[in-house]
Amino acid sequence: MSDIKEYCRMCGRSTDDVGELLTITGGLRVCRTCLEDAMRMAEKLMPGLSPVQMKDNGNDTAGNTEVSENTPSDPSAPEEGDTPPGEDDPKKGGSVRFAGGFGLPNVGFLNMADLQNMMFGNPAAKKKDRKEKKDAPVIDIRNIPLPHKIKELLDEYVVGQEQAKKVMSVAVYNHYKRVASESMKPEEFEEALRDVEIEKSNVLLIGPTGCGKTYLVKTLAKLLDVPLAITDATTLTEAGYIGDDIESVVSKLLAAADNDVDRAETGIIFIDEIDKIAKKKNSHSRDVSGESVQQGMLKLLEGAEVEVPVGANSKNAMVPLATVDTRNILFICGGAFPDLDEIIKQRLRKQTSIGFNAELKDSLDKRKDILSEVTVDDVKKFGMIPEFVGRLPVICTMHGLSDEMLVDILKEPKNAIIKQYQKLLSLDEVDLKFTDDALLEIAKKAQEKDTGARALRAIIEDIMLDIMYEIPKDDNIGRVTITKEYLEGSGSPLIETRG
Ligand code: ADP
Repeated sequence: MSDIKEYCRMCGRSTDDVGELLTITGGLRVCRTCLEDAMRMAEKLMPGLSPVQMKDNGNDTAGNTEVSENTPSDPSAPEEGDTPPGEDDPKKGGSVRFAGGFGLPNVGFLNMADLQNMMFGNPAAKKKDRKEKKDAPVIDIRNIPLPHKIKELLDEYVVGQEQAKKVMSVAVYNHYKRVASESMKPEEFEEALRDVEIEKSNVLLIGPTGCGKTYLVKTLAKLLDVPLAITDATTLTEAGYIGDDIESVVSKLLAAADNDVDRAETGIIFIDEIDKIAKKKNSHSRDVSGESVQQGMLKLLEGAEVEVPVGANSKNAMVPLATVDTRNILFICGGAFPDLDEIIKQRLRKQTSIGFNAELKDSLDKRKDILSEVTVDDVKKFGMIPEFVGRLPVICTMHGLSDEMLVDILKEPKNAIIKQYQKLLSLDEVDLKFTDDALLEIAKKAQEKDTGARALRAIIEDIMLDIMYEIPKDDNIGRVTITKEYLEGSGSPLIETRG
């Protein structure tokens, strides 16, 4: 037996585990178990294909197996001595030649692709079927909620961020209108508009950490019932380097769409931490995770057909591939862009020093909504390459959350944290209340952590631990009120008994 390990092209196990490999048509080497499985499946799919007549050539250890019943009518059937070099080399294990026929005329050679298709299905074939029934529109224009409706729905979940919700509602509405218009007939448009192509409106979402960027996108995808993939830009690297390939974002979306290529093609991809792939300043080495990733993303953002592995993160011989067109996928790139406010202020200061008085300059420092003044040039100055920013025509900013907004996040949204605890305690028939100053105290504590609304859950969980532990013990308790004093450690929660 050879010392060199080989791997079965079907199951990927090594010769240590599966013994010698067999060579099948096309020079591919597979293990005996996979081959037998495939043949069983072939027999199921094509009844009548007689069992494989594997005839050991007497060299069992080498596993050389040969099927010799070639159909004379099959021109592709190899002649004697037609074996590719090395196929029958005992050192390399065995070889199997499957002749077509087996008593059935016109049954061609089995090759690796057929075997794979039998075992995993053929995504390319699925794609073809899909193209054929392309008449039915994927997105029906009548089913896209109007922007004000989308915003109303968002209001139920996302607190504040009015401008961002408005911008996103319009961007999403326009995007899906564009998708729907693609499946409409030219006659449905006025003549002058027939050749007008609506460009894609990917979005750049800028806002401090924990202000609800991801939450907004997640809520949108849920409301529109489209698949969503969320990726961190920091995990991406240029193809060939350690890290995820850029195209892996599309295969995540395909997974989110249950491998339904149609659904995936109208989904949303959210790439978070996009500011982390800004061009590195003063770097002389190759920037495989920064600028190159931006470069690599260009064609995806614009629209390209990419081959992505189905059910896996990387392409290899064993994973079937599906072709996904990214033209109708909405890309939303989000990031905190620290120090972008300084770049904006610098620009505005320059402008004011030309035209206005110095008073304005001071007021700039005090402005909290400075991010909303952002321009494409500021983002470029931050380190995003012009081609990249150019493919994200909608720039949407979100601001940091105030104490009042944090209080609202605690109690207002449909799925607010406090409502969740109230529901839990209601199962024990206990009413849970928070005084207004207790809520404000929680908001203030969260602000200190500087992670936006993300800090709220940890704080509430900490507060509620003792309550959730103690209250169910006593059947008489009917209401618990959390007070500011309790949070400060100078008092206890107000307990009221039933009746
Ligand atoms: P980021 O902006 O860093 O992506 P996230 O969207 O992940 O922040 O926010 C973290 C959590 O905080 C969310 O899961 C959500 O529960 C809550 N949250 C943040 N902002 C809001 C908001 N404006 N309205 C409601 N909940 C919010």
